[in-house]
Amino acid sequence: MKNLHQQLSCLLLAVLMFSAASAHASAIDSVRVWPTPEQTRIVFDVAAEPSYTYFTLYENGPKRIVIDFKNSKNNADLKAVEIESLLLNRIRLSTPPNASTVRIVLEVNDAVDPKIYKLPPTGPYGHRLVVDLAGISMVVPPAPVRESRVVRTAEWSEHRPVVVAIDAGHGGQDPGSIGPTGTYEKMITLAVAQRLAAKINADPAMEAVLTRNGDYGMSLAQRASQVRQARADFFISIHADAFTTPQPRGASVWVLSRSRSETEYGRALENKERLSEELYELDSRLQENGNDPFLARALLDMRRDDSMQDGSLAAEILLDQLGRVTTLHRPKPQGASFAVLSNIGTPSVLVELGFISNPHKERLLKSAAHQEKLAAALYAGLRTHFTRYPVDGTILAHQQLHKHVVARGESLSILAQRYNTTVDAIVQFNDLGSTTIRVGQELHIPTS
Ligand SMILES: [Zn+2]
Repeated sequence: MKNLHQQLSCLLLAVLMFSAASAHASAIDSVRVWPTPEQTRIVFDVAAEPSYTYFTLYENGPKRIVIDFKNSKNNADLKAVEIESLLLNRIRLSTPPNASTVRIVLEVNDAVDPKIYKLPPTGPYGHRLVVDLAGISMVVPPAPVRESRVVRTAEWSEHRPVVVAIDAGHGGQDPGSIGPTGTYEKMITLAVAQRLAAKINADPAMEAVLTRNGDYGMSLAQRASQVRQARADFFISIHADAFTTPQPRGASVWVLSRSRSETEYGRALENKERLSEELYELDSRLQENGNDPFLARALLDMRRDDSMQDGSLAAEILLDQLGRVTTLHRPKPQGASFAVLSNIGTPSVLVELGFISNPHKERLLKSAAHQEKLAAALYAGLRTHFTRYPVDGTILAHQQLHKHVVARGESLSILAQRYNTTVDAIVQFNDLGSTTIRVGQELHIPTS
């Protein structure tokens, strides 16, 4: 009898515990703040679909947005949340209207109209409540200065350099993939993007624009608007993603394709993985707009055929160059409809430098020497592409080949200076294995 009683009380305890847990079904587990140049996003990670109401207090005292999470409980350490936004000052708890509600107060600097919406679980994220505050949220680091610019002569100025927008994937609160020893993809992509930009800007026939030049987050829309503002001829998005197993390790190049998920790997990446932020952006915009089928189509829609074709042509050449400095995961360009590509009406490619999830590749990706090799390969590939398929009105469309026979005492750098070009351009054009040249050697020098 006593035994049964014990069993019953155990059962009762279990039931009580269960109902206590379900009473806080939408507990707040963590809070993340993502400032970007144009907005601050606050994300509440919640255990279940949240039920909430909110109001703003902009009349008296500090400006506040008050959010009530119904039937909830707070597990997040609000004091530990990093807030680096110019719009948001503080996140704190306040006295709720009843015991089962969590009242969160956002202290803001401006009477902004908050956009608050729920997001269902996707990729690595569970249920979320998102608060978007529009307005200048961070000081954008100034664009890089072109130091090593070759002075243009009168003839040069008639034609413009080809403009390449380089997009370092991820940034800020979005680390991208994380390697086995904790290397963030966002840092690798930025380092290689900056090295590539330096090489491009050292070439008088080319000009680089970085979509981000520091460790901060950017939405897809912001990246796309940077590309449009720069009137870029080409867009290259740089990533070093993870795969579900540590084995894959090579580089690959992705281009926009008309059919979604042409390969199984494409499906794996598109459905759940590592371009989560890009896909998440698309996802959240679709949700904000009530899954408008026209918008969905416009966002996913492919651009002009020639843009796509230019991307494919460039992808082949980039793969050829990357194959000389690293192993290739796929020897052919891969088709995908990643949002980061489809949002931009410019020929574009997405380059995977290698899988950061592979321990060997992680080590390599961190090394300056390897980053430099990858950047050199990408530069060489782009240079070849725009020489072979020049854009109207650019310097490369008007260049002529000058035949030069190497004389005693000449080096590639002397020749580069004389013909107003770069050592890399000559090496690239003549497919030289090294920078050593010999007397009597015949070189083709691309010059305007
Ligand atoms: Zn990535």
